[in-house]
Amino acid sequence: APILEPFYLEGLNPQQRAAVEATDGPVLVLAGAGTGKTRVLTTRIAHLLGTGKSWPGQILSVTFTNKAAREMQHRIAQLIGGVADGLSWLGTFHSIAARILRRHAELVGLKPNFTILDADDQLRLLKQLISAAGLDEKRNPPRALAGLIDRWKNRGLTPDRLNPEDNHSFADGRGRELYTAYQERLATLNAADFGDLLLHNITIFQREPEILAQWQRRFKYILVDEYQDTNVAQYLWLRLLAQRWRNVCCVGDDDQSIYGWRGAEVGNILRFESDFPGAKVIRLERNYRSTGHILGAASGLIKANEGRLGKTLWTEDALGEKVQVTGYWDGEEEARGISDAIEGMRGHGRKLAEMAILVRAGAQTRAFEERFVAVGLPYRVIGGPRFYERQEIRDALAYFRVTVQPDDDLAFERIVNVPKRGLGDATIQQLHVLARGRGISLHRAAGLIVETDEMKPRPRSALRDLMTGFERWRAIGGDLPHTELAQTILDESGYTAMWQADKSAEAPGRLDNLKELIDALAGFENLTAFLEHVALVMEIERGDGTQDMVTLMTLHGAKGLEFPVVFLPGWEEGLFPSQRSMDENGLAGLEEERRLAYVGLTRAREKAIVSHAANRRLYGQWQSAIPSRFIDELPGDHAQVEARPGLWGGLSERGGFTPAMNDSDLFGSRGLSPGFQRAAQNRAAGPAPRVGPRTLDLNADYVTSSDAGGDFKAGERVFHQKFGYGRISHIDGNKLDINFEKAGTKKVIASFVTKA
Ligand code: ATP
Ligand code: MG
Repeated sequence: APILEPFYLEGLNPQQRAAVEATDGPVLVLAGAGTGKTRVLTTRIAHLLGTGKSWPGQILSVTFTNKAAREMQHRIAQLIGGVADGLSWLGTFHSIAARILRRHAELVGLKPNFTILDADDQLRLLKQLISAAGLDEKRNPPRALAGLIDRWKNRGLTPDRLNPEDNHSFADGRGRELYTAYQERLATLNAADFGDLLLHNITIFQREPEILAQWQRRFKYILVDEYQDTNVAQYLWLRLLAQRWRNVCCVGDDDQSIYGWRGAEVGNILRFESDFPGAKVIRLERNYRSTGHILGAASGLIKANEGRLGKTLWTEDALGEKVQVTGYWDGEEEARGISDAIEGMRGHGRKLAEMAILVRAGAQTRAFEERFVAVGLPYRVIGGPRFYERQEIRDALAYFRVTVQPDDDLAFERIVNVPKRGLGDATIQQLHVLARGRGISLHRAAGLIVETDEMKPRPRSALRDLMTGFERWRAIGGDLPHTELAQTILDESGYTAMWQADKSAEAPGRLDNLKELIDALAGFENLTAFLEHVALVMEIERGDGTQDMVTLMTLHGAKGLEFPVVFLPGWEEGLFPSQRSMDENGLAGLEEERRLAYVGLTRAREKAIVSHAANRRLYGQWQSAIPSRFIDELPGDHAQVEARPGLWGGLSERGGFTPAMNDSDLFGSRGLSPGFQRAAQNRAAGPAPRVGPRTLDLNADYVTSSDAGGDFKAGERVFHQKFGYGRISHIDGNKLDINFEKAGTKKVIASFVTKA
């Protein structure tokens, strides 16, 4: 035994230390906020490496967000230095699953360069499928289907595994049929959605024991943070991977389970002990993060929840300041009050980076953003209405996607007529018919059709220019740095010019965004790697990261993080707890909201400042509101409620907001429509920004298919929808030259022609 204990073990309490040193066999650390669970994980990794039990590539370490993954990497590097660089399997579920999937993509009918669809693409696709099935989109909204499919995927259910009773809730039981069609469509598009990443992994593992065994052998040690929020699919995935070595260490806190709406199951915590018999369960009770008052307030609040596993938390920290509760007249006054408080503390030497504002709904950040912009207070929004979702960015990305992966129909459709090229719906329809009829992508269909007279001369030449553009960009992609390639694409396609010509107020900002996009690209090895990153990424930090900035983010996004000063605005009935959450899930919904409040309070180390407004303009409408019940639930000896006489005079009833909330403003929040839950989940599931495998050769020969022109013979009389009757004069693969009786000689596509 070593006489000197390794330095990284110093300072751990006995329970933490036990959790670190119990390297072999299953371990479950179940403990409250700020007790050092994440610290246990990072130290454990240091210990595994330091004692030579493992090399970095054998450690699979899963976190919940991109940010958390980076944070962890950073903490480990602080402990053991450069060795941490080799931890290539530290990331989010999605990022790791995506990497594994790229290695075996063929086994589920994908190519290694498959595209990862975002929520927007997914909705567009579902919309097409719904209308192709002859269903009314209004009555069967794509968003509802997206939510349904997502829930199935979170539960590990492929279409063939659905039970009949899983199937009634959409379009009179046609959910499964649409799900099947959707999966087929994804395969043709060479695409996967977020849920697929894990699901395909699971399918592969279950079907190919050899491959599973190979991954099982590799991951000698498995660590999972925020275990309380894993869903069934994630759980199955972990369980499969852990079977060989069974060296799996999960840390979590049932009181911080805040993703029930996306299929997380606290049940996983309870199941752990039966799935991993002999698991060591370790409890940590000492909180190292927060002062006594903050901890007291948070613990008091969470007591109102039933069905907790229950735990004690204590701290040796001083009591510190009580949690402060402030009432404001309206949201604007709240933003002003908080920004003043921030400036005040800054004046007393606090850094902006030490302060965070945690909101329930993404839309709440806007009031603060406006105020900060007005007073010149640097801030960053993490996970907010984000850069990569802005229209111009999505357009640009679509151009890049088509360049890199020509068969990406969704991207192609997005930009084929952006800027306007006179390629209207009729043209797109024509391409769709051709593509569907021949089982080829829109891009291929376009390549085919421009060789013919099927289109009017103008759109035809516009489309031909675009196709030539893509060919050229693909060709030069091999020689040009990818940032220049990207710039060239935007310029030559006319996209940049489109915004330059736009006189609207937003246009300059959009051009700036495009510039920023090129900057962002520079950090990646090539376009493919960048696109992969974008598809997976969750939070974007504006600025160069070195500037001192206030952080604005949702409570959901703040999980696992800590700040010396935390502002918690908008504690009003209806907003927080969210009305929708309560309406949809009753008591369970309310309890999840309360856990979210607990998460919020326990992010604070020294100061927690709760606020509420009597009037709030929410999504265009004024609402009057009363303070959240969570404020009443803060124990009086730990909270200081600022009396604002008269403010609440007329409001005695607990009515709260009428939920006039607009879905799109409520990302990352409980009260979302399924589609946006997806979007929020996708955001919450970004990977560490790793460079993905480079499988795509930009110069790959991309030829349009030239199969035979059906069973037509020269001289045969045929009919064409647009040009009428005529006789075939020449056959060139699938293209026919026809002398039309009225329209003269035209080159047309065989599939648009019938025998007369
Ligand atoms: P959460 O539930 O919010 O994710 P957690 O249990 O993961 O919290 P950590 O983030 O690991 O907690 O730790 C909280 C804070 O306490 C961190 O600043 C960490 O460095 C500190 N800490 C943890 N253990 C110790 C210790 N033994 N001595 C000193 N500080 C500690
Ligand atoms: Mg943690």
